[in-house]
Amino acid sequence: MTSIDIENKCPFCGSSLEPGYVVGDVADSLRAATYRSTLQWFNGDPGWSKSFLQLGEPVGETAVKKGSYALGKRCVQCRKIILDY
Ligand SMILES: [Zn+2]
Repeated sequence: MTSIDIENKCPFCGSSLEPGYVVGDVADSLRAATYRSTLQWFNGDPGWSKSFLQLGEPVGETAVKKGSYALGKRCVQCRKIILDY
């Protein structure tokens, strides 16, 4: 597992960043040994068919009792999240 190694200042507004994570399907923890992360990155605009067919690139980690997740830091001032995947 890795973590983001950046200053704790938002690159957009300079406010303090808080560490945390984005979590996907917690049920993934039950099949973590064989299943890839359900967090997926898609290029371009959101689309039902792309998401339904899960054509994205799996990102983040999947672990027992954690589910699919990606560590990151967020800025509550400008509502941006920087994820480590
Ligand atoms: Zn910010």
